[in-house]
Amino acid sequence: MNQNNKAQLGGGVFLVSPVGAFQQFTPEELSDDAKAIGQAARDFVEGEILPNDSAIDKLNIELSKKLIRMAGETGLLSLEIPEEFEGMDLDKLTGLLVLEEVGRQASFSVTYGAHTGIGTLPIVYFGTLEQKAAYLPKLASGEWIAAYALTEAGAGSDAMNSKTVATLDGDYWVLNGSKMWITNAGLADVFVVFAKVDGKKFSAFIVEKTDSGFSLGTEEIKLGIKGSSTCALAFENCRIPKDRLLGRIGFGHRIAFGILAIGRFKLGAGCNGVAKEVIKFTLKYASERVQFGKSINNMGLIRQKLSDIAMRIYVAECINYRTVGYINDQMHNIPWTEESAASRKMEVMEEFQIEASLMKVWDSEALGAIADDSVQVFGGYGFSSEYPPEKIYRDNRINRLFEGTNEINRMIIAGQIFKKCGNETLKLRKDTDDLPTIGKGCMAWASHAIELAKRQFQYSTATALEVVGQKLIENQEASARVADMAMEIYAMESAVIRASKMKTASHRRSDFACNMANVFVNETVGKIRNNAYILLAEVLEDEGLGNAIKELAAFDGCVPISSAKLRDKTAVELIEKGAYPIEQF
Ligand SMILES: Cc1cc2nc3c(=O)[nH]c(=O)nc-3n(C[C@H](O)[C@H](O)[C@H](O)COP(=O)(O)OP(=O)(O)OC[C@H]3O[C@@H](n4cnc5c(N)ncnc54)[C@H](O)[C@@H]3O)c2cc1C
Repeated sequence: MNQNNKAQLGGGVFLVSPVGAFQQFTPEELSDDAKAIGQAARDFVEGEILPNDSAIDKLNIELSKKLIRMAGETGLLSLEIPEEFEGMDLDKLTGLLVLEEVGRQASFSVTYGAHTGIGTLPIVYFGTLEQKAAYLPKLASGEWIAAYALTEAGAGSDAMNSKTVATLDGDYWVLNGSKMWITNAGLADVFVVFAKVDGKKFSAFIVEKTDSGFSLGTEEIKLGIKGSSTCALAFENCRIPKDRLLGRIGFGHRIAFGILAIGRFKLGAGCNGVAKEVIKFTLKYASERVQFGKSINNMGLIRQKLSDIAMRIYVAECINYRTVGYINDQMHNIPWTEESAASRKMEVMEEFQIEASLMKVWDSEALGAIADDSVQVFGGYGFSSEYPPEKIYRDNRINRLFEGTNEINRMIIAGQIFKKCGNETLKLRKDTDDLPTIGKGCMAWASHAIELAKRQFQYSTATALEVVGQKLIENQEASARVADMAMEIYAMESAVIRASKMKTASHRRSDFACNMANVFVNETVGKIRNNAYILLAEVLEDEGLGNAIKELAAFDGCVPISSAKLRDKTAVELIEKGAYPIEQF
């Protein structure tokens, strides 16, 4: 594999580059320092959070505050806060490890994520020195808790339709309006609130819970994450000092969407933390439950599910470290002391929007499938609230809804791809020259299959763009097919590159990784092919469609392999270990 070319790395470029054209960070390369922080997070979660699982789920505001303060004492709230404001300013890869650990308790994970992520980061990135000095040390210690208030009753996905208004009155901003669904509302001391200056210029403000004219609604009664606080907020002539404007007037969209993009990859990491918990109790149950005179973990279709759960965890891990590796590489070396640091860091996030959105969509949907498989392995007991899958099934559902619904994220992925094709940052090819051939090595078959899938993606997307142009985004079904193809190509490639690296390094679990990567590619290339064919049918008809289908067929030719044999091998290893077997520390 060619591991050079780093200079050309940009968002979406994987779609038009050969498999392995760019360096990919994998969890096997985590530093000892990162692992030590991961271990501290694990100790904290196992010592303080998991033993309080049911108390947390009863929504106990005082307990949540106490646990956040304890997380602060352990240093877990200050990972991304600059050092001069009592933070650690660690790289984002270390943060992934922590989020995975914290993710093991869904409600606490949402509380933690809203505080350290969307609540605190707007001040880290966009605050003035005075705002940073006033808030960040308190947020780093957990003395204060943060929340992020964007959504309104009539402005959910369409966040810019905000009706909350800010008007300048002498030395004060006066806010009027309301917000919906605000995580941490019942705990928070400080809220990042989005409102339109004079009803026009979308902007961000810092509101404190004691500000006059500010009030909280009652707690929402939710399907899941019942231990996280979610309320509406009301602003009735809420007066805040003039210097609580965050960033510039009219700059709110950059703050809102930039921070949400960061939130997206954080959410993905949290999902995989839950998934690693699910696989443990599902493997245990499958080994203990006896039917037809033997443990159900002997049944082929149960082994298939166990193996699929592990495969999804593996693939999510590959996607996560690859994506955050790209972002970290370009973001972490921009020092906070540089005047334009925040905007340069945001530019990196904007560049990798495709990858951040696909990580959110892939991981949240993978966890949905994992939770579903776990219920199925438990049979009727999986439907009972006395067994763990029921709670996971409910808790995980939110992940497809917040940080931008998965529909919105699919549209972001497709929109970015179309834009990059329009300005020729991504040059799609339709020719049938240089058809890929199979090389040598444990991942040769899979790499070949992915190369063909990339050409199917390029042919069908280029054709659709030629026929419809940038208006293709208005056909949401067709656009979602483009997004899904991109997402699955990225997922397959990430899985294959990591397995290759593990094989080269003779990692003790490299065969396990190669088997899972091969099964995943085997099960996924057909989806790309199907989406490519249907995409053509969305934009062409009659003879034009017939000709295009013939041309697209040039990129068929991936001969399937047996999934069952490979899955069975992974199931044996899983059952022996009783957990996801690739450990990071
Ligand atoms: C438990 C919980 C916690 C939350 N925490 C926070 C928080 O801390 N801060 C905050 O600001 N918000 C928060 N939210 C709000 C959350 O981000 C929104 O619910 C989400 O953005 C969707 O908005 P909506 O609920 O108004 O749905 P809508 O926007 O009304 O969407 C309804 C459906 O239509 C689809 N849809 C909408 N527009 C399009 C489109 N253009 N194309 C295709 N499909 C579309 C959506 O995907 C969805 O399926 C939270 C929500 C929940 C449930």
